[in-house]
Amino acid sequence: MKKYKLLTPGPLTTTETVKREMLFDHCTWDDDYKQITQDIRRELLELAHVTEAEYTVVLMQGSGTFGVEAVLTSVIGSTDKLLIVANGAYGERMEDIARHAGLDFECYHEQYDKVPDASAVEELLLSDSSITHVAMVHSETTSGILNDIEAVGRAVKRHGKAFIVDAMSSFGGVDIPVKEWGIDFLVSSANKCIQGVPGFSFIIARKDLLTASEGKARSLSLDLYDQWKTMDIDGKWRFTSPTHVVLAFAQALKEMKEEGGIEARSKRYTENNQLLTAKMGEMGIYPYIGGVHQGPIITTFFYPSECHFSFRDMYDYIKERGYAIYPGKVTEAETFRIGNIGEIYKEDIEQLCNIVKEFLEAYNHE
Ligand SMILES: *Cc1c(COP(=O)(O)O)cnc(C)c1O
Repeated sequence: MKKYKLLTPGPLTTTETVKREMLFDHCTWDDDYKQITQDIRRELLELAHVTEAEYTVVLMQGSGTFGVEAVLTSVIGSTDKLLIVANGAYGERMEDIARHAGLDFECYHEQYDKVPDASAVEELLLSDSSITHVAMVHSETTSGILNDIEAVGRAVKRHGKAFIVDAMSSFGGVDIPVKEWGIDFLVSSANKCIQGVPGFSFIIARKDLLTASEGKARSLSLDLYDQWKTMDIDGKWRFTSPTHVVLAFAQALKEMKEEGGIEARSKRYTENNQLLTAKMGEMGIYPYIGGVHQGPIITTFFYPSECHFSFRDMYDYIKERGYAIYPGKVTEAETFRIGNIGEIYKEDIEQLCNIVKEFLEAYNHE
């Protein structure tokens, strides 16, 4: 099979050196391995700009959704009520989780191309004092919009509620001062902006709120408190851990530091993103979000207005030439998506845009 680079928002293209880490079968109860887990936890706290005194990190087996489900079903007790803010499929997935778990919840739905409004969240908190937790997505990978979690966090804190953020596709690629923005639980995963491979999610949690959740979990394997209690002793995971993924993640963190940390990574992603939008615009392909709310991670593009355009044909054409892109996920328009995170540089964006140009020319001559 011909190889290609991923222009999808995770799994994404990782370095050879990250992949190579997975060639070793590490023992799980061994001290070196437990130390790797502890180092990862400490470094994630640093990236989140929080201290060990107030926050802690829990690693959880499974993909990102397992992390979100672990938080929602572990910290929201039977007398609590959750407000879910949703403007895309991942916000709606939180509703799905809440429904499955039988949580008491309500939703504030915003259109997919609009950022949720902090004052609307505030009004909901004022009108229903039984709400104890607010959950929302930072980078809505459905559309590529970057939601204003800072403003919503401030509103949530003014009312003394707990704030849960799905920062799956932004953490590491966008700087998030977790405490300053009032975030109590932040969820992300190994295979997004840290540029590791899929296999676990991680939760940056306020220690006092995590401790207060003891005994509330509705699931055994996703019990956030129990997972933390075991892991916090000396870095031993509660159940079998994805050892190869953990080793790759430790290497990915190291490479992130070498690149210049979140600042440098964020700059690279932003430049990739701006170059992509500019070059696509030259071809008459425009973003669904655009403007100040377009995030630096992934862009949703409208189909070009040419009378016959087939995403499938373009996908195959691009794949044949070394890149894999993403279909659209917004419901009300015909779109496709291009991610620009992972081991992706300016040259890749330029090459991709040349391929798209070639495709459109060939297609329109047929
Ligand atoms: C990737 C992602 C998730 C998790 O999806 P999984 O398929 O479970 O990894 C959740 N929320 C957002 C915003 C994401 O981008």
